[in-house]
Amino acid sequence: MSDSSVNTCEVCGTSKLLRFCRDCATLSCNSCLETSVEYIYSCPNCTAEPNSEVCGSCGSTTKIDQERTISICPSCSSHRVEDPEVLLDNLPSNYYETITKVEVVNSEFIDLYRSFDFMVALVRFCRLAGLYGLPQMEMQLEKCSNAMVNINNNAIEGLSKIRKEGMYDIRQHDYFKKISLEHYRSLEGVLRHTEEKIEAHLKQIRHWVDEVKQRLEELTPTALFLREHYETLSTINRYLPTGVNDVAAIVPPIAMSINTPKRKENDECYIVFTQEYCVFLPKHALNDEEIVTGVKIPYANFIQRKRTNSLLKGVQLKIVLKQGNIVISAPPQVLDKVEEYFGLIDSDEPYMVGSPKKIIAIESDTPDKNEYKRAATKMINIFREWLFDDRVQKAHQEQKLELPSMKELKTQLDRLEKMYSNYNYQARHHQIPLDKYQEGTAEIKDNYASLRDKWSKLSGHFGDLDPSFFGK
Ligand SMILES: [Zn+2]
Ligand SMILES: [Zn+2]
Ligand SMILES: [Zn+2]
Repeated sequence: MSDSSVNTCEVCGTSKLLRFCRDCATLSCNSCLETSVEYIYSCPNCTAEPNSEVCGSCGSTTKIDQERTISICPSCSSHRVEDPEVLLDNLPSNYYETITKVEVVNSEFIDLYRSFDFMVALVRFCRLAGLYGLPQMEMQLEKCSNAMVNINNNAIEGLSKIRKEGMYDIRQHDYFKKISLEHYRSLEGVLRHTEEKIEAHLKQIRHWVDEVKQRLEELTPTALFLREHYETLSTINRYLPTGVNDVAAIVPPIAMSINTPKRKENDECYIVFTQEYCVFLPKHALNDEEIVTGVKIPYANFIQRKRTNSLLKGVQLKIVLKQGNIVISAPPQVLDKVEEYFGLIDSDEPYMVGSPKKIIAIESDTPDKNEYKRAATKMINIFREWLFDDRVQKAHQEQKLELPSMKELKTQLDRLEKMYSNYNYQARHHQIPLDKYQEGTAEIKDNYASLRDKWSKLSGHFGDLDPSFFGK
């Protein structure tokens, strides 16, 4: 097709002052375009921005500030009619702008990792303090972590597909340089198609991220429950018999009488469930001057549990021991809870994690939160070079960008590691509140991530930086 056959007004056939409709691709000349006049009003009496002759806010008569003639496509009535030459001139920057949209999900990755890290920190904190119940926390967090690895991989694969197809499009159109006027239709198509591809890519990522976020949200009640247990453990920790450092669950004080040949107690007691035994800790142990220890009874000594209900004593749970018995008096719902714990211990279901090992492994295997961001930046840079020929300029910039030396990075890394193990020491010894631990370790992780970025710039890949950082 020759230029003259393509570039004529589709209404009257002239080839002068052509305008291109970005919505229906109709080409029309300036005199065939329809027009309408748009007025911009202002109100003399208030600061409202009225859109008619009467101010909607105060009722005054408005005055016309500006008058604008708007071109309208004769075929579809769209307002998006433009000079095709300007469109072609703007094509590289329009295309580039579209490509940069792949970055808008960066913040969603940050949000996701923040929620995940906070949850991991909570579990790790509790495990370090010797609280091992609710193993579903680790189970679910591991699933989240695996899903996040997949999101990174699939999202980066999506980027690479966009890059390859974009590269093809750009090559097909001479790198968007010296494009003849007859091409704007296909280029408008390329632009729109690229936009659609990127929208679909972003939508997919958001969907994946939302799935993991939802999983984390569903885990929140369990996390809060774990936290409650931790608070109670912190309160009574000092009064527990020595060697109790694997707690599965704690029931807050309830009235009971303990009758064993060695010990009689008649008070409200905490019930602490561990791997092998139960500790009944009298509430007065927390106040008394004298040292009162908890009553430690191995599960093997529990013979039978039965519920009784009498007018005189109300609902009670009677636990028959090999020697003696325990009678717990509480409202039925509370007894249900106590029995639920005993039931869990009787069952084959896992009710404890046994050690902080699992959560530490999950933490050190947490996928790299900046992986997508780096890939997106890299891709955007490649397009920028192709579209604007700024390779030379970029090389200049990179030289100026000051990177610390490997040695400096190592020093910073050591410092972070020290801070991190200090936080963990405090958690192990109940010396730091949970939120402080979560915030402190989150900050370390952020610093670690940016250190890792610098490291990868220096070494070309993330080879030598110790990946077991969080495993210590
Ligand atoms: Zn015309
Ligand atoms: Zn007004
Ligand atoms: Zn149109």
